[in-house]
Amino acid sequence: MNFDYIIVGAGVIGSSIAYYLKSALQDSKILLLDKNHSAGAGNTARSAALYRNFFSSHTSRVLAGSSIRYYLELGDKVQLDPIGYLWLFSEEQWADSQNGIQQLDPIKDKFEVLDRAAISDILRLNHKAKAPFPDVYAGIYCHLCGSISGMALAQHYASEFKSIGGDVSFDTDIKSFILTGQNSRYAPWDEVKVSGIVDQESNTYHGTQFVIATGAWIHDLLAPIGIVSGILPKKRQLFGLTIKDPAQLLMNHNSTKKPAVILPAGGVYIKPILDKNILIVGCADDLGQPYLMSDPEPDPLYFHSAIEPVLNHYFPELKNYKLSLKWAGYYDYHWPDMTPVIESVANLTWVGGTSGSGIMKADAIGRIAAARLQGHEEAILADGVKFKVSKLSLRDREVEKEELII
Ligand SMILES: Cc1cc2nc3c(=O)[nH]c(=O)nc-3n(C[C@H](O)[C@H](O)[C@H](O)COP(=O)(O)OP(=O)(O)OC[C@H]3O[C@@H](n4cnc5c(N)ncnc54)[C@H](O)[C@@H]3O)c2cc1C
Repeated sequence: MNFDYIIVGAGVIGSSIAYYLKSALQDSKILLLDKNHSAGAGNTARSAALYRNFFSSHTSRVLAGSSIRYYLELGDKVQLDPIGYLWLFSEEQWADSQNGIQQLDPIKDKFEVLDRAAISDILRLNHKAKAPFPDVYAGIYCHLCGSISGMALAQHYASEFKSIGGDVSFDTDIKSFILTGQNSRYAPWDEVKVSGIVDQESNTYHGTQFVIATGAWIHDLLAPIGIVSGILPKKRQLFGLTIKDPAQLLMNHNSTKKPAVILPAGGVYIKPILDKNILIVGCADDLGQPYLMSDPEPDPLYFHSAIEPVLNHYFPELKNYKLSLKWAGYYDYHWPDMTPVIESVANLTWVGGTSGSGIMKADAIGRIAAARLQGHEEAILADGVKFKVSKLSLRDREVEKEELII
């Protein structure tokens, strides 16, 4: 039970870190553990499983863009389906977004700007405004976007990690930390640090370095030992509508594009799973939802009040569906800039704050965290881009606020 590195949390983030760290330090003893029975069974399994390179902040675009490059190589192994995204804007939203949009490179970032007529070539949509829902004025069609299985991705990293000699322990729920200096009431001259962690059966795991990659549970784990991670959980809900021939109702017959759609009201989005006659729908709510691990159950009333009116307005032909699926999970938000955090105190590093886009950025985050744990100043991402690791720290942070959170 003695390791060089112990990584708590085998979601997509912890598993990616474990893989890149072990690949770089083959002789190190590294343990990846999780309270669940398999990798990716936490919030990674509860996501909408979409990926995109379309973000307002440069940092987000670098993290997602390079990760997508890696995922495209994995292809079917992670159930990658490049269905594309169609992000719709009202006239007012379009005017407000111009600064961000002009920073994008349509050729490199692979997107097209669509006017109302071009949008109508893809979607059977009502574009007119009717309070409180705004008009549909323009859209961005993103080709480097689509659907991916977060769980398959986490399991890919965890099994690659194991295959190169990494240790894995599931059903291991870390309940507490052992800190040196406990006897002196944590007097500073005792160089307080973590010497071990203890699970639900009182097993102790000793290590030299500890990595906390527990996503939405980071705050609950670190606050009791005196660390404010800056990362807090917020509930998010998704609903599945079963409907006969959704493509017929949603898309124009002639369109070869069958994208995920982000509507201009309330961040309501639709992920079509056309071969199963299912539409997954969600909403980017914020104010009013507490930053707490509150009730983990999805609420059908939320669908009927916050999502259904938006669908009815923009897609009047979308009727006679059955609310057949519902689930909820938690985003792990880093509220100030909605961008991931990699920070350390003593021999403990926490990695999280993925703010609703952790799957699509996991490859880059894993590489950057692994570089930081080795004391490197830069990480090399999947597309060859060099990334200064301190940019994602709290002390030397250099990121822009991400505005396109759904
Ligand atoms: C409804 C919803 C929709 C989303 N849609 C998308 C999307 O379309 N695209 C996208 O990229 N992202 C999406 N996300 C966000 C994405 O799911 C997260 O960013 C990502 O899964 C974070 O990965 P993680 O490894 O940090 O967290 P997790 O997957 O939650 O992993 C953390 C792990 O830590 C473990 N753990 C916690 N506490 C302990 C403990 N005490 N001891 C041991 N283990 C512990 C948990 O069991 C868990 O497996 C969505 C999230 C939600 C909730």
